[in-house]
Amino acid sequence: MDYQKILNEIDSELDKGKFGGKVADYIPELADVKEDCFGIHLCSLEKGNFAIGQNEQRFSIQSISKVFALTMAYPMLGEKLWKRVGVEPSGNPFNSLVQLEYESGIPRNPLINAGALVICDILISKLQNPKQEFLEFVQKLSGNPGIGFNKKVAESEKETGYRNVALASLMKSFGNIENLVEDVLDFYFYMCSIEMSCKELSQTFLLYANHGKHFVTGERILNASQSKRLSAILLTCGFYDQAGEFTFKVGLPGKSGVGGGIVAVFPEHYSVAVWSPKLNKAGNSVLGMEVLERLTTKTGLSIF
Ligand code: GLN
Repeated sequence: MDYQKILNEIDSELDKGKFGGKVADYIPELADVKEDCFGIHLCSLEKGNFAIGQNEQRFSIQSISKVFALTMAYPMLGEKLWKRVGVEPSGNPFNSLVQLEYESGIPRNPLINAGALVICDILISKLQNPKQEFLEFVQKLSGNPGIGFNKKVAESEKETGYRNVALASLMKSFGNIENLVEDVLDFYFYMCSIEMSCKELSQTFLLYANHGKHFVTGERILNASQSKRLSAILLTCGFYDQAGEFTFKVGLPGKSGVGGGIVAVFPEHYSVAVWSPKLNKAGNSVLGMEVLERLTTKTGLSIF
């Protein structure tokens, strides 16, 4: 399989200007990102690295960070984790409030905002210096100590993230948030503001292609069962109310963020990240989904 040839083909065949979408502007600091940024990085377990465009430029990973938070919290709590957050797709937007009231403050899954806020709450309870230790964990997973938060993005979301305030407050009223709502939100906004490149994201996600073992150091981060379960959640919940469509078109577990990044994993083979900031209504990168659909179509390889 010549991945570079396939990526080159996808890049040259894509009439990028033809695709619509809108850069996320509900977080003021994200509104200034140039909409024509574009990068792809594929990291194969057997064959190395393949790339197109701005694959080394860092961008706001936003909800992709929820995967790292889950990776850190899951081994700490084990299966008890699932008492506080479910494993079902929500079929609703990532920041929706409605289901949460009907379901007594237990979020459907850890990848919608409500679920990620519960995971943040758990990490705050378990860690001495939550932001610092979480950042160090992501740096370790990625093998890159240069990765950091973007304070401006975090503070900008703090000023405007009223829906997240509502979600955390509602869950607190049901007893599913242990810490102060403002502390949980502060940690959550900083977590979402982490910046990484497609190259760093695809290298980090190799962990999930490798059954929970760090590809470079060999360190076991998740046991095989935890890695299987986390990947199952990526497949069923990684794209909010478009999780079905992503699985239908691409056929790989993955995760998106409103910074325009998407990372997908082909277990035992590769992980791939795409960045293009223009989003569809569900908050997923339009070109990102298109590129990945073409990748699994051209290679004829998916989990199905
Ligand atoms: N920080 C963003 C929010 O809470 C993350 C959303 C996303 O990437 N889908 O709205």
